[in-house]
Amino acid sequence: MSRKIEDFKPINPDEVLMYTCGPTVYDYQHVGNFRTFFLSDIIVRTLEFNGYKVKHIINLTDLGHLTDDADEGQDKLEVAAEKEGKSAKEVADFYIKVFLKDYDTLNLKKPFKFTRATDYIKEMIELIQELERKGFTYVTSDGVYYDTSKFEGYGQMSGFTPENVKEGARVQVNEQKRHANDFALWKFSPDASKRWQEYDSPWGVGFPGWHIECSTMAMTELDESIDIHVGGEDHKMIHHPNERAQSEGATGKHFVNYWVHGTHLQVDGGRMAKSLGNFYTVSDVEAKGYTAMDLRFFYMTAHYRSSLNFTWESLQSAHNSLKKLYDIISGYKETDEVEPDQASIEKFNAALESDLNMPKAIAVVWEVLKSQLDESVKILTLLKMDEVLGLGIEDYVGFQIPQKVQNLAKMRWEYRRQGIFDKADVIRKEISEMGFEVEDGKTDYKVKRKL
Ligand SMILES: [Zn+2]
Repeated sequence: MSRKIEDFKPINPDEVLMYTCGPTVYDYQHVGNFRTFFLSDIIVRTLEFNGYKVKHIINLTDLGHLTDDADEGQDKLEVAAEKEGKSAKEVADFYIKVFLKDYDTLNLKKPFKFTRATDYIKEMIELIQELERKGFTYVTSDGVYYDTSKFEGYGQMSGFTPENVKEGARVQVNEQKRHANDFALWKFSPDASKRWQEYDSPWGVGFPGWHIECSTMAMTELDESIDIHVGGEDHKMIHHPNERAQSEGATGKHFVNYWVHGTHLQVDGGRMAKSLGNFYTVSDVEAKGYTAMDLRFFYMTAHYRSSLNFTWESLQSAHNSLKKLYDIISGYKETDEVEPDQASIEKFNAALESDLNMPKAIAVVWEVLKSQLDESVKILTLLKMDEVLGLGIEDYVGFQIPQKVQNLAKMRWEYRRQGIFDKADVIRKEISEMGFEVEDGKTDYKVKRKL
């Protein structure tokens, strides 16, 4: 809100409250969406690295996201349901499952909860009622709207005010709206059509607007005032100003202390869109032979407020750097040194504390690798840093057999014992690809480096 870097001071020093605007689940999440979730992950890990406990909520928008920014058009989830011949819930369940799998492969820390909007309809209605009591709402033929002129400082985040915004340039004019910025809190179901997801309300059958979902889930699960709210940079203009107007209008309290907006990922130097054929998911990245860790490392090559351009060449170069890092670490010999290098860790943390400067933090990693420190000290230092980096460095530590290979061999042995031979074979192949082989005995197995 201040448009400058501020010191972080939590409301309650024992627990930082944080909310991230999550995915709309009528489609796959692409590598650009995950840049924002990666930002949240780095914030959580950095806070934890500095001794804070974090309560983090990510929502799943499984209704009410319209095809048009001006609260017009159809619910995208219903459109997808119709297209795929499934119910809205089936569509949402499917994309949530894919999202959670990708979330996991990218080693993003699980939040306290992933909240589904459809589980909070009652609370949303109560919040709209509170806004109604306080005089912030009006009803039109198609819904209940928020009167943004009633909320002082509405344009503070976006720079838009009821006076300077001109409606109609990009979106169709809704004649019944009092001001261009006004937005729907509740939309009525159209008379003629029955929707998959519609609910009774004091104003009529319909469904909640997208913005009210986040205000409701943030305040229900966390508190009326929270520390950090994260989202993509596009939310700075409409979604977050609306969340703020709803929450502060209803409670009269300050809603969020720190808004953090991540810059969108570019693809091939431009916008990512299905129509342009450059809409890439984590699965697409894996299908090209890269790993989610390559993508994770790629995200770290730019500061979150800087632009970052995704191309297969840039991903390849992230892959090369990460492979080099893993290779160097796998070659280290462990001695009986037991302490990480404190000076390097402080330098690393200073980069994080400086508005999450990941490129600088990564530069400290390379400094450690190139330093004259004892190899064991390097390992311990990197393992400590990996609490934030989340690159699975421990899988590559191990003087003879890397831990990752040992873990795989153990898993394979378990499968063999249970007679699940196809799975055991898949793992044998994976171990082999990593340059190792397994020899089975009667009661035990041995892992060796391939000659
Ligand atoms: Zn949101």
